[in-house]
Amino acid sequence: MAVETISVTVLGSTGSIGTSTLEVMAAHPDRFRVAALTGHRNVELLASQCRRFRPGLAVVADAAAAADLDRRLRAEGVATEVQYDTEGLEAAVDRAADITVAAIVGAAGLAPTLRAVGHGGRILLANKESLVMAGPLFMDAVAQSGAELLPVDSEHNAIFQCLPGNFSRGRPVDSGITRVVLTASGGPFRGWSDGDLAAVTPAQACAHPNWSMGRKISVDSATLMNKGLEVIEASWLFGLSPEELEVVIHPQSIVHSLVTYRDGSMLAQLGQPDMRVPIAHALGWPERLDSGVAPLDLATLGRLDFEAPDAGRFPCLGLAYQALEQGGTSGAVLNAANEEAVHAFLEGRLPFMGIAPVIEETLARTGPGSASSVAELMDADRHARREAADVIETRAKVRPQ
Ligand code: NAD
Ligand code: MG
Repeated sequence: MAVETISVTVLGSTGSIGTSTLEVMAAHPDRFRVAALTGHRNVELLASQCRRFRPGLAVVADAAAAADLDRRLRAEGVATEVQYDTEGLEAAVDRAADITVAAIVGAAGLAPTLRAVGHGGRILLANKESLVMAGPLFMDAVAQSGAELLPVDSEHNAIFQCLPGNFSRGRPVDSGITRVVLTASGGPFRGWSDGDLAAVTPAQACAHPNWSMGRKISVDSATLMNKGLEVIEASWLFGLSPEELEVVIHPQSIVHSLVTYRDGSMLAQLGQPDMRVPIAHALGWPERLDSGVAPLDLATLGRLDFEAPDAGRFPCLGLAYQALEQGGTSGAVLNAANEEAVHAFLEGRLPFMGIAPVIEETLARTGPGSASSVAELMDADRHARREAADVIETRAKVRPQ
């Protein structure tokens, strides 16, 4: 029987997740076709993706980028329509593809991802920040539209694979789960001394030992904030309390996460640290597609190590648990303060060890408010960014030159 082609829109197609997604899709041309791609400012890469995948629509950041993309496409006879800015992103989402891949980085991903949820198709969620900011609202929208939300984040995809068939977020059926363990590589600075950490450069922070990723998430991995964001993401995705979520450092990034059961069993998902594996899993689910990634050779691997996280040296993890406990707008504040601090670090305006204190101070200045609408969350996001910028500026003034 011939399989019908599945339409896919990739929000953030020019990023690390976006390009891996297109790579997996390219290996299955009879199965998938591209409906729309969005690339923000990377016009050159987006143009080459349009040439190759012939989407109906391509979206960039502004009018100038749109004119540039349009000129390139026309010159090569590519018929893809070009749009830009918020309206463009909305138009891409409103193509209502069978699958929407949410792979924009940061808070900018919230509105388009929520809009895609409203269309009720399958959502492949990479943009963890949208769940961190708006967990309850987001999951309510999923329940209302009947969208099929599948996690692409490797830990959450692993957990999804290790959960029992009868699992549901509200857990009306006792599935026997006692805990969920998220693994973390520990980033490039695991075991470093305070003195060494004080002099860390953006280039060092972006050189992850196992994964190749965008710059923002690479810094998040180095501070362990990525794992903090993932604890919050897991809490909303799977309906787990903070006490049910544990983090363990696993430097090889081979075991992607585990689910612990009452009888003492632990189920884990293992694989190469390559995002094409969870992407292929979510694109094909419940079928298994070839991801292009070779299976592990266990004998060559030899050993797998695990250790407890160093909460003192990497306080971002604790700050994320704190925000999860506080609820309300705390997730949005944590995320906004982190984005501002990481941005300042990448621009050389804040030392690496200044990132956590900026987030801590911003959380302290901004008590948890009501988070019953996207407007309230975006307000909290803007307010937290202003506070974080103020904290960063104040710290820069008192820092010895
Ligand atoms: P990236 O920086 O490589 O790519 C980000 C994409 O978003 C690009 O296409 C960029 O053009 C687009 N973008 C950036 N700012 C935008 C804006 N203001 N408006 C619209 N589009 C914008 O990031 P990435 O590493 O691919 O990560 C994407 C998301 O996936 C993040 O939320 C990240 O946490 C998550 N994630 C990434 C990985 C990974 O391995 N890279 C793993 C798990 C989860
Ligand atoms: Mg992850």
